[in-house]
Formats: sequence, C-alpha cells, structure tokens
Amino acid sequence: MKLDGQTSSVFFYAVAGSLGLSFLAALLVLAWQNVIDSETRDFTFGTISVQNSLEAKVRTADAVVDSLAGFIAAQSALDDDAFAQYTRGTLRRYAFINGLAHVRVAAETGDSQILHVAGTFPRADLKALLSDAQNQRIVRQSIGQRQAAIPLIGEAGTRAARPLLFVRPTQPARPAADSLELVVLVVDPAKLIDLVTIDPTITLALYTESEGIAGRNLIFLRGAQNPQPGFAVESLDSSSVVRLPHFSLRIMAAKDLYWNALEKNLVFAALVLGLGVTLLMIALARAKDLQSRELEARNRVIEEQVRQQTYELAEARDQALEASRVKSDFLASMSHEIRTPLNAIIGMAELLAETRLDDEQSKYVGVFRNAGEALLSLVNDILDLSKIEAEQLVLEAIEFDVLDVVEQALEINALKADAKGIELVADISPDVPARVVGDPGRVRQIVLNLVGNAIKFTETGQVVVSAAPATSTADAAMMHFEVIDSGIGIPADKLEAIFSTFSQVDTSITRKYGGTGLGLAICRRLAELMGGRIWAESVEGEGSRFHFELRLPPATPAASAPPALALTPNRALVVDCNRYTADAVAHALAAAGTETAIAVDIESACRGLGDAQQAGRGFGLVVLGELSDGEAPAAAIARLRAVIAALPVVCLLRPSVLARSVEGLRALAATAYVGKPMRRSHLFDAIRKLGSVAASPPATVEAPSAGGAHKARLLLVEDNPDNRLLVRAYLKKAPYEVVEAENGAAAVDTFKAEAFDLVLMDIQMPVMDGYTATQAIREWEAASGRAPTTVIALTASAVKEDVERSLAAGCDAHLTKPIKKQVLLEALSRYLGVEAS
Ligand code: ADP
Repeated sequence: MKLDGQTSSVFFYAVAGSLGLSFLAALLVLAWQNVIDSETRDFTFGTISVQNSLEAKVRTADAVVDSLAGFIAAQSALDDDAFAQYTRGTLRRYAFINGLAHVRVAAETGDSQILHVAGTFPRADLKALLSDAQNQRIVRQSIGQRQAAIPLIGEAGTRAARPLLFVRPTQPARPAADSLELVVLVVDPAKLIDLVTIDPTITLALYTESEGIAGRNLIFLRGAQNPQPGFAVESLDSSSVVRLPHFSLRIMAAKDLYWNALEKNLVFAALVLGLGVTLLMIALARAKDLQSRELEARNRVIEEQVRQQTYELAEARDQALEASRVKSDFLASMSHEIRTPLNAIIGMAELLAETRLDDEQSKYVGVFRNAGEALLSLVNDILDLSKIEAEQLVLEAIEFDVLDVVEQALEINALKADAKGIELVADISPDVPARVVGDPGRVRQIVLNLVGNAIKFTETGQVVVSAAPATSTADAAMMHFEVIDSGIGIPADKLEAIFSTFSQVDTSITRKYGGTGLGLAICRRLAELMGGRIWAESVEGEGSRFHFELRLPPATPAASAPPALALTPNRALVVDCNRYTADAVAHALAAAGTETAIAVDIESACRGLGDAQQAGRGFGLVVLGELSDGEAPAAAIARLRAVIAALPVVCLLRPSVLARSVEGLRALAATAYVGKPMRRSHLFDAIRKLGSVAASPPATVEAPSAGGAHKARLLLVEDNPDNRLLVRAYLKKAPYEVVEAENGAAAVDTFKAEAFDLVLMDIQMPVMDGYTATQAIREWEAASGRAPTTVIALTASAVKEDVERSLAAGCDAHLTKPIKKQVLLEALSRYLGVEAS
C-alpha cells in the first residue's frame, strides 16, 4: 500500500497518539487496580478479625450454656444465691453475655417460668421473649429433634441489635412433671463484634441461620459511617459463617469505596506518566513526519536530477547514434565517390598495360595500377571496420561449401603467388561437412586477408590453408582453419598486437611491405562475430601459422558424399616434392574413397610403382606435382610409364609451368592436367575424364563459336562518361554491340524502344537511380508479356545491403566497381553464352 504524504503523516500521528493513549490507559488501569487491591486487602483484614472474634465469643457462649446446664443438672437443689454465685464470674468475664437464666417451660401450654436469673438483661424482656409463640414453637421443635442448643431471637432491643438467646435443656435432680427446664444465655449481638477496632465505613450484618422454623434472622446491623461519601466507585463485600453444632452465624460485611476517600496518588502518577509518554510518542511521530517530508523533498530533487540526466544521456545517445549513422553514410558515400574514379583509373591502367609500351612506361603504368588497387583495398577495409564498429554488419546464414570458399580465395591469389614462386595449397579434411551454414562472403574475407598477408610476407615455399573440425571444444559445429606460411615470421611480442587496428610489426618509414594494419583487426572482429576467435603462432625466419575458429553448423540435410572415382585399382600414387601439396591431394582423394600413397621424388615413385605391381597391389593413377629438380612433366611421365605402361597420370601444374608444358602434355595419351592451386572438383573431373577417354574413343569437341550472325546487344546505363568509355574499351574486341544511356530514365526509354540481350545497370545515377530503372524495366516486361532480360547491376559500394537491394529490385547479378576487364567478360559470357576473346 502506498500512502501519499498527507495521509501517511496523519497515519503516523494516529498510530503514535493511540499507542500513547493505550499506554496511558494501561497505566491507569494498573494504578486503579493497585488502589482497589490495597482497599480490598484492608477490608479483608478487617472482616477476618471481626469473624475471628465473633467465632471465639460464640463458642465461648456455647461452652458457658453447656457448663451452666451441667452445673444445674449436678445440683440437688438450686437456690438463687448458688445460681448468682455460679454466674457472677462468668458475667464479669464475658461482657457480651447480657444474662443467664434457669427457666421452666410447661410441656402442655408452653408457659415459661423464670426460676433463676442473673445479668443485666431485664427479666421482663426475657419473660416476653420466652412467651413469644414462635419462640415457644422453636423450643419445642428443637427439643423434639434432640437439638442441644437453640438460638432464639428476641424482639426486644433495637432493630439494629436483637438479643440472641442460647437455650439448652437441662436435667435437674428433681424435675417437675409436665415441664422441661432450660438454661438460657442472652447475648448482646453488638458486643459479639469488636466494633471499636473495625473500620467505621464498613457495613456489618449478622444473621443466625438454622433449619426449621427458626430459619434465617438478622440479629445485628451496623450501617457505614462516611463523613463525606461523594460518589461510590466500587463496592466490596464479604460473607463468612461461624458454624455451631445446631446453627450458624453468618456475618456479612460490605464497603463502598468513595472517590473522595481513596488514596489517589498512584492514579495521578500514572496519569502524568501516561500523558508524558503520549506526548513523547506524538513528538516522535512529528520528528518522523518532518524527517520523511525532508526525505521526500530530497527524493524529489534527486528524481529531478535523474530525470534530467536520463534525458541528457538519451540525447547524447541519440546524438552518438546519429553521428554513427552519419559516419556510416559518409563512409558509404565516400566509398562510392572514391570507387567511381578508381574504377576508371584501374581499368584504364589495365587497358594501357595491354597496349605497346616501353619499359619505363610499363613501370609507370604498373605503379599507378598498384597504387589504385592499394587505395581500393584501403577503402574496403575502412568501410568494413566502420560497419563492424557501428554494429551494422549483419551476417548471413546460408548454406555453403567450405572447400569452395577456400579454393576461391586461393584462386584469386594464384597469380600473385605464382609470380613469387610460392605454392598455394588448400588442405580440407574429409571430416569437414560438404555444406555448412554461415556467411561465406565473410569467411572468404578472412581467408583472403590471411592468405594475402601470408603471400606478402613469404619469399619461398608455400602458403597452406587447412580446415578441420575443431578439437579444442566439444562444440561439433566449431571449425578450425589454419593459414600456414614459410615466410619471415612475427616476433613473439607482436603476436597479439598485430590484431589491433593500424598495427604493424615494421613501422619504419622505409617499410618494405605495404598495407594499412587494418586487415587482422577486421579478421578478429569477424571471427568473434561468427562465434569464434583468431590467434597466431610464429617462429621468426621460419614462418607463421594463423589459426581461426568459426561456428559453422553443418547444413541439414547433409549433402551426399561425392561419387567414387572408378579407378582400377582404386589406389593412387601422389608424387610431389612439397609435402603439404602431397598431403592435400591425398586428403582430397581420400574424401572420394581412393586409397593413396605419397612419393617425394620420381625415383621413389618408380620404385613404389614397381614394388606395388609385384605385390599385386598396383596403382590405378599417378597424380604428378612439382619435382624438386624441376624436371619437365613429360619427361617424368615417360619415366613412370617405363615402369608401368599406359599408367593414367594427372599433372598438377603452376600457372607459369602450365603455359610451358601444356603442348607437350596434350600429345600424351592417358594424361590430363589441372592448374594450381588445385581445385578438388577439377582434379576429380580430370580423373573421371581419363577414365571415360580410356573407355570410349575420344569424342570430337565442338569449338565454341566466337561471335556469329547475331551480335549480342548490350545496354550500358552509366552516368560517368569515363566509366562508359572504360566499359566500351573493355568490350572493344568482344562480339557485343553496346548502346549507352546516361541515367535510369533514359535507359528505360531506350530499353522500351529497342531490343537488348543484356543490361549493365549502374545504381547511383542522377534523374533516376538503377533500382528504380530496373523495377520499371521489369514492370514493363511483365505488362508487355516479354521474357525478362538479364540485368547486371554495377554497384559502387561493396555493401551487402546494396547488393541485396539490387537483387530485390529485379537485377540478376551484380558486379562491384571497380570492374576488371576479365570479370566483366566472364560475367557477360556466362549470361550470354558467348565466348569473348
Ligand atoms: P597489413 O598487412 O595491411 O599491414 P594486417 O592487419 O593484415 O595489416 O597485418 C598487420 C601486421 O601483422 C602486418 O603489417 C605484419 O607486420 C604482420 N603480419 C600479418 N601477417 C603476417 C604474416 N603472415 N607473416 C609475417 N607478418 C605478418
């Protein structure tokens, strides 16, 4: 329950006041109780002492009657003197005995005759009492019941004190006929009680109680004497009985307690104390009230401050978000702005390099081509990093083939590696699922980055990319990749620092290797985004080993295993002086179910072939790679076939060797070749081709027609005249007819007016952008019942969202600027089915 301030303070006062008043009431009750208790105690003491003296006197009277009766019975003749003498002492000693008498009662009439009498009680009164009809009935009844003592109540005397008669039959020596003799003792009830010592404010009443006719009779009553009674606050009473053998005496005492007469100091003290406590409680409530008011006020101030700060924080956050969005937008548009001229620079450099140039000119062209490419990669890196940092990088979760991604990354670097004489190897474990779920573009980016670095920092040897399920964790979806090089290595103290942004091992201005120091930082962020990590090991001078782990769950349902290679016998010998290459080939063949052996040179290969043949476990294939002595493939094949004639051989050749050797190899039967870096599918295709060639006569393959009657018509939509010129230059020798449009609106018009086989659509253009133009084209096609024409988007910003947007607008594919000639030609031939030179 929540109370507002006003209600809560009223509540506190009420609680404090009622607590104080309750305490006051409790104190008053206790004090009052105490006063009453003390009065009750006094009263009880008083009544007990009255009762005790009454009991003693009554018993004395009883004993006196008895002894007088005994005395009379013992006398042969009793005269007044003897009676007076006998009773004198008794009467003197017991002042409450008023009289003693010896009486004769006629049995018939009940008339009584006083024979002897002593004491102060008047004889006439006694006579009257004994003549009373009721008393006579009582006497007769008592005697009939053999009752020894009979109380008789006299009418004589005041109402407040009626004399009590103890009557006892006696047996004289010579009893008279028809009469009984009685001893009578007259008691003054007022003297039975010691009235002097008892509190005069107590009301006293004395009753006789006996069975039969006598019943209950008041014999003494004393009213209370209160000088100024005032009002009575309490009544006390008590009743007690003195039992004698034949009757009882009941004494009743009562007392009214009057306010005026009470000892009230304790009550006043309680009142003062209780009121004091009540006031104290109220003062405490007030203090609490003040304190809570103060707290409330302070809370209000704090709340106000917090609200203010929250508002300021929210504003700061909004500003930061806005700044980050602006930064992202800025980077995206900067990326576009830089890419567009770069497109022209790199493209033109490419074209220029193809023209006739002297050495110096070639060198210059090379420089600005390289510089353009470096600038392009820097722009890409910065864009990536800012996207990651602004948490705007959205990862895809699509099915892809790890092998494919790694092989593509190596293929992209093939020429660079070959120029340095470095072997590129993809060694993918057969345990890696054929298809996994993740973001292939980002996985490729990491591999490309690491392979690019590895090639950059390696002079001889190889760069190997391996992948296998991770063993460091129980998570079956975790994939472990390694990029191993035989380069310069990294000092141990730099192994961690290189993953920070703009961090390089060699920071001197005369650096030998270019780069920005962003690549590894991006890789680390990407690996973490993909649920993994990245780290490096290295021995300086021997090489580096970059590890990264990524969560790539296998796709469901799992892809089926590749079909077997149909080798007879199903065993292959891999010959390569590079152990990494040999292992990678062996793993690839194992994935297709082929058993393999490895030889590092041609001699041991020949020996192995011979031995296996003799043992009846021959080989169905030799995969021939690099030899340490650089022996030509044709010569090496001849040596192998000297051991086993017609042995099927697949050669793995580096691009530079391929050009030299291909002629010689074509002439050989049962021989195929695959370019390095080897793609697993190419190896398998080559092996299958060898098998089918052996089984059937070679089919004549139709050469692809270069051009034909119909020249494909392209609509080039691009606002930048340099880029239009570039694309035209690229396509100069290709069998395409190019029509240009300057913007989307012009493109839609042209498209409607003429027939085209393909559209190259720039995205960012004035008047109408590429998305809108493509949509308009698609709508027009649908409305006029035409088959859709291929539209390839030319996206300047390499951002994934833009690519997705272009596909959503109806484009079939996209090319990222700056566009390379080869890439463009390949894309066109893929969509138009025309081989361009
Ligand atoms: P960049 O290569 O663009 O300078 P990176 O972040 O990719 O930036 O690499 C940072 C630094 O790490 C490099 O400058 C280099 O000093 C070191 N490095 C990276 N890979 C290798 C490697 N394979 N061998 C030796 N040094 C490396």
